Amino acid sequence: MITSPAHLPTCLPAGVFLEPVQLVFEQIRSGGDRNFGYLLGDREARVGVFIDPSFSPGTFVTRAREQGLTITHVLNTHGHADHTNGNTQSVMLTRARLAAHPEAASKPAVPLTDGQVLTIGDLRLQCFHVPGHCPDHIALFESRFELLMTGDLLFVGKVGGTPTYEKEFGAWCRSHTVGNWMSIVVPIGFLSGPAYSHAAA
Ligand SMILES: [Zn+2]
Repeated sequence: MITSPAHLPTCLPAGVFLEPVQLVFEQIRSGGDRNFGYLLGDREARVGVFIDPSFSPGTFVTRAREQGLTITHVLNTHGHADHTNGNTQSVMLTRARLAAHPEAASKPAVPLTDGQVLTIGDLRLQCFHVPGHCPDHIALFESRFELLMTGDLLFVGKVGGTPTYEKEFGAWCRSHTVGNWMSIVVPIGFLSGPAYSHAAA
């Protein structure tokens, strides 16, 4: 028998219950310049991560609590301040470990190199180093549910801003990840998670 967990809405008609799903994936408006962050977790394992909680650590902590998740990592897609300014408070509130690219100025406790996989319960979050918008930029791909968190690599409706074409395209070409990157982007079907709700550079 399926029961209605306490964290699910209670406004359903009598006798109608939602079957809880294993995946927790929430896009959260974190504030700032219309930034998005993400709560990702495994409901059955009761563990999850924050991705770029930035301006709203308290909101992320509240949602994690309501979803019954213990947060194991606070992830940054890249080192720009509007993605990292919530790190200290997020780590303090959750006691989770900060994870980001090894070149990140935040000096993450868990450095995420290209190709590395972070396990979150039964979820597998693969890291792709994708310099261009920022030298330490990573994209995060969960293969089981085909979720791609692009950070500022992609905005809604356009490619993320790059400082100069020559410099950043060179970095992109040297990253040795284009083949891997395209192998997950080309098969359409993934759910993309950009870091902004608008199309500004
Ligand atoms: Zn940025």
